[in-house]
Amino acid sequence: MNVAFACPRCEQSVRVEVPEGAAAIACPACGGTLSVPAGAFHDGRLERCLVCPSEELFIRKDFSQRLGVSIVVLGFAVSCVTWYLYLPYWTFGVLFATALIDVLLFFAVPNCLNCYRCDAQYRGLAGLDNHDHFNLETHERYRQQAIRLREAEAAAAKRSRQAAN
Ligand SMILES: [Zn+2]
Ligand SMILES: [Zn+2]
Repeated sequence: MNVAFACPRCEQSVRVEVPEGAAAIACPACGGTLSVPAGAFHDGRLERCLVCPSEELFIRKDFSQRLGVSIVVLGFAVSCVTWYLYLPYWTFGVLFATALIDVLLFFAVPNCLNCYRCDAQYRGLAGLDNHDHFNLETHERYRQQAIRLREAEAAAAKRSRQAAN
């Protein structure tokens, strides 16, 4: 299994190979180790994020959004040219081919597992299909939490600066 995450110690984005059932993950950037939370693996399925260790994970297509958008934009640009050249069959052919490529990619691209809280990404693990898909409400809850945490940290830093003066 492959894990991509932002190291909580050195804040570098790293990617490591983690054997299933491993007890710890070593950060290749700073050498620090993160111990894998208890109950992270259950029946060969990842139940908790190994990094943060939230239990809320979602699956998504492991697909570069930029690539998907590029294909659509390119198809649209080409169809504009063929339309301008009075080639209606080519125009529809290009639009149809663009849609077909997107559909094929959707089925060809594997899923990857994401953590809502720390955005760690897990690839190449079994039992992915048993996980839930992205839920905007859960995402929003974690986003709000992160904002409040940052505000609290900023306020604490301000207080300690004032105390130092
Ligand atoms: Zn690190
Ligand atoms: Zn996480």
